[in-house]
Amino acid sequence: RAKHLGKNQSQFYTDTLHEEVIKKGKIEHDLSQAIERNQLELYYQPLLRPANLSLGKIEALLRWNHPDLGVLQPKAFLPLAEELGYMCEIGNWVIENTCKQIKHWLEQPQLNQNRFTISVNLSAIQLQDDSFINFVEAAIKHYQIPANCLEFEITEHTLIGAPESAGVLLSKLSNLNVYIALDDFGTGFSSFDHLRLFPIDVMKIDSTFLVGVGENEKAEKLLSAIVQLAKTLELEVVVEGIETEAQAKFCSQLPIDYYQGFHFYEPLSLDKFLEIQWGK
Ligand code: C2E
Ligand code: MG
Ligand code: MG
Ligand code: MG
Repeated sequence: RAKHLGKNQSQFYTDTLHEEVIKKGKIEHDLSQAIERNQLELYYQPLLRPANLSLGKIEALLRWNHPDLGVLQPKAFLPLAEELGYMCEIGNWVIENTCKQIKHWLEQPQLNQNRFTISVNLSAIQLQDDSFINFVEAAIKHYQIPANCLEFEITEHTLIGAPESAGVLLSKLSNLNVYIALDDFGTGFSSFDHLRLFPIDVMKIDSTFLVGVGENEKAEKLLSAIVQLAKTLELEVVVEGIETEAQAKFCSQLPIDYYQGFHFYEPLSLDKFLEIQWGK
């Protein structure tokens, strides 16, 4: 009987593994045409100001509307895009469309928002691309947007591959006057080094530091200490991954500049975003 069960189970794993392999093959195959077929889409997650929970900044997050597989999250296709050499093209698409959106929003008088920032995530591969900085500069010029409406998020993992060249590039970016955020802060091995070596404006404290906040003192003290550290370094502080009322309540005692998390908003399609933020 046990043997029988074992066989069913291995059959189950073989089936799901098989499906995964087919899915991966499909993603690999279709990725090359995702841009030209207009299947990529930016979702927008609002970051809120603690004082009145109003819209502060926005993070642009990539989705792929696959014709058969539905809406794919970045982790389902970005690693493959990197592996297959599509990351720069996709990354440029993200930057260009973000600039276009900024331009569009700045032109809406009813938004009554004289300055706002949209952040985009960068992959390590983009930081190694010689034409990257020129592309960014050209996009800002083309859409005639203030550079400080644009923020680039890099993770500690992004910086591990090529710290020296990345440093040069980040300085050039910084000189353009865009903001630079260190994303997922605290999950890498050299968080403190990165703060010292690179021109960072914003610290995005990783959601793992929210675990236990609102319930246990140790977690709360750790979060407080990191926020204090960021403030000492005169960084803007974003806390990512606020999911509960208790976490939000604890955060309200700390000098945090922006809240981000499902407790407030998930990443929203453009239509949803407009409906919720500026619709009424
Ligand atoms: P990230 O930059 O740290 O983005 C935040 C991720 O956390 C998003 O996942 C967001 O949906 C999720 N999130 C926000 N609030 C909460 C919360 O309260 N709880 C939980 N559990 N999650 C929350 P998403 O959109 O799946 O993106 C995952 C990662 O993919 C991003 O992490 C970023 O590293 C990468 N990514 C997304 N868009 C791009 C892009 O255009 N280019 C590059 N290179 N990477 C991207
Ligand atoms: Mg990010
Ligand atoms: Mg993050
Ligand atoms: Mg990240």
